[in-house]
Amino acid sequence: MSISVREFELLNDNLFSITWNDNHQSYLLLRDIRNACPCATCKAALKGFKKKIEVKNPECFELISVEIMGSYALKFKWGDGHDTGIYSFESLLALECKKD
Ligand SMILES: [Zn+2]
Repeated sequence: MSISVREFELLNDNLFSITWNDNHQSYLLLRDIRNACPCATCKAALKGFKKKIEVKNPECFELISVEIMGSYALKFKWGDGHDTGIYSFESLLALECKKD
C-alpha cells in the first residue's frame, strides 16, 4: 500500500501533524520542515553552508498554507513568502519527531 495523507493540521506555532492513510499520526516541527526544504534554492544554500551561515528570520518558520500536490507530496508556504518546496510524503515521514 502506498502512503497518502488522510488529514493534516497545524497544532500550534511550532508543531504540525499529519495523519496517514494507515492511521499513523506524525508530529513534525515547523523548523525541521523548513530546514529540510527540498527546493533548488535551499539545497544550493545548504551546499554553501560552510562558506556562509544564513540566519533565518522567525517568519521563515511561520506556516501560511499547505497544499496537497497530486498523490505524492505537500507544498508548504512560509511567512517569508517561500513556497517552492515540494515535500514528498516519504521525506515528511523522515522528519517525524517524538511528541512528549
Ligand atoms: Zn526552499
